[in-house]
Amino acid sequence: MPNTVLVGAQWGDEGKGKVIDVLTAQADVIVRFQGGSNAGHTVVAEGKKYVLHLIPSGILHEGKICVIGNGVVMDPFDLLHEIETLQGQGIATEGRILISDRTHMVMRWHRALDQADEARRPEGKKIGTTGRGIGPAYAAKVGRTGMRAGDLLKPDFLTLVRDQTEAANERLAAWGAPTLDAEEMVRIYGDLAKRLGPYVADTVRYVNEADRAGKSLLLEGAQGTMLDIDFGTYPFVTSSNPTAGGACTGSGLSPRRIDRVVGVLKCYTTRVGAGPFPTELDDADGEMLRQRGGEFGATTGRPRRCGWFDAVVARYSAMINGFDFWAMTKLDVLDELKTIKICVAYERDDGVRYETFPADLDVLKLCHPVYEEMPGWMEPTSQVTRYEDLPLKARAYVERLVELTGVRLGILSVGPARETTLRLGL
Ligand code: GDP
Repeated sequence: MPNTVLVGAQWGDEGKGKVIDVLTAQADVIVRFQGGSNAGHTVVAEGKKYVLHLIPSGILHEGKICVIGNGVVMDPFDLLHEIETLQGQGIATEGRILISDRTHMVMRWHRALDQADEARRPEGKKIGTTGRGIGPAYAAKVGRTGMRAGDLLKPDFLTLVRDQTEAANERLAAWGAPTLDAEEMVRIYGDLAKRLGPYVADTVRYVNEADRAGKSLLLEGAQGTMLDIDFGTYPFVTSSNPTAGGACTGSGLSPRRIDRVVGVLKCYTTRVGAGPFPTELDDADGEMLRQRGGEFGATTGRPRRCGWFDAVVARYSAMINGFDFWAMTKLDVLDELKTIKICVAYERDDGVRYETFPADLDVLKLCHPVYEEMPGWMEPTSQVTRYEDLPLKARAYVERLVELTGVRLGILSVGPARETTLRLGL
C-alpha cells in the first residue's frame, strides 16, 4: 500500500478536500503535516455538514486514524472545540486522533501579538494574516520559546503559561495594545490541559510503526506551494512549508518512505490576500471565474483574486514537489468561456524570459505574462463521467496543461459533487 503526499500546487484553495477524500479511502492513517487552523474545509457526508480546520477529514471515514503532525501549529482551544463538535455529531474520536507531543501550540498571547503586529503595520505593508497567532507561534518555535503539546502533560506547565503571558504583555504594552490577564490564562490553560492531554502521543514513533506494519499513510498539506515560507512569494507567504519536503519534516516519516506525491492544481489561478499574482484578471472574465468558481473565502467570505492558469507557477511547483500526478480541479468553471488564456512564461520589457518563478518580487514587477490562447468548449462538463466523453476542446486544454508542466494526470474534477471526480490512475 503506497504512502502518499498530497499538496496544493498554487496559492491554496485548489479544492484539496475532494481529492483528499478520494485518497483517504485508500489510506489507513492520515497525517496533517503543517499549517494551523487558518486553513480548513467543509465536508458534507451523508447529508451532515462538518467543518474541519486541523483534523484531517479522514476522521469521517470509519476506522481511520488521524494524526496532527509535529509540523502543525495548533491552537489547543480550536482543536478541542473541533474534537467536541465531532463527538456531538456522533463521530468517535478516542484513539482516532493523535496529537504529536512535538506539535507547537498557538497560545492566546501569540494571537494577541499577531493582531497587534498586523494593526501597527502601515497600509501596503500589511501581510494579510488571518490574525490567529500562527506567525508568532512559528516565530516562537524557531526562537526556541515555543510551547509544545507535550508541555500540557508537564508539572510546570502553568508556571510556563504565567511566565510567557507576562513576557508577551511587555511587548503588547510597548505597542499600545491590550494586555492579557495572567491568572485568567493559568485558569483556562489548566482546564484545557486536562481535556486535551489524553490525545497527546509520540506520533513520530506511531507513524513509523504504522509504516513498518504495512499501513498506508496519507500526508496532507494545507495552503499551497506558492505560500511556502521558502519557495513562495516571500514575504506574502505562510509561516511553514506546505511543499512535499514539509511532509517529512512535519511528520517524522523519512523521504525514503514516500511512494508518490500528488499535486492539486486548479485549472485557473486564485489567490487570497496581498502579494504578487502575475495572471490576475480585473475584468469580466475574472468576475466570471469568481462567481462560477465560488471563489470567496470559506470563513471570511472575502472575494478571492482570480486569473488565468499560470504554467510558470505550475512548472515551478512541479519541480519543487516532484509531482507524480496532478489532481486537476474545477475544469467546469471554464465551461462558458469563448477563449481561454494560458500563461506560458514571464517576459521583461527588455526581452528576458522567465520559465520558472523568480525569487525577487521586484523582478516580477517588471515582467508581464506571455499568453497563448485556446478556444473554449462552451458546453457543460459536470455531467461527464469518463474522460473520453469530455468535449474535445476541453481535453485539448487539459492536455496542454499536462504538456506544459510535464506531470501526468491522475484525477480530473469537473464539479463540486463526489461523483464528478474522473479517476485516471489514482
Ligand atoms: P482547499 O482549500 O484546497 O481544501 O479547497 P476546498 O476543498 O475547500 O474546495 C474549495 C471549493 O471548491 C469547495 O466548495 C468545493 O466544493 C469546490 N470544488 C472542488 N472541486 C471542484 C470542481 O471540480 N468544480 C467546482 N465547480 N467546484 C469544485
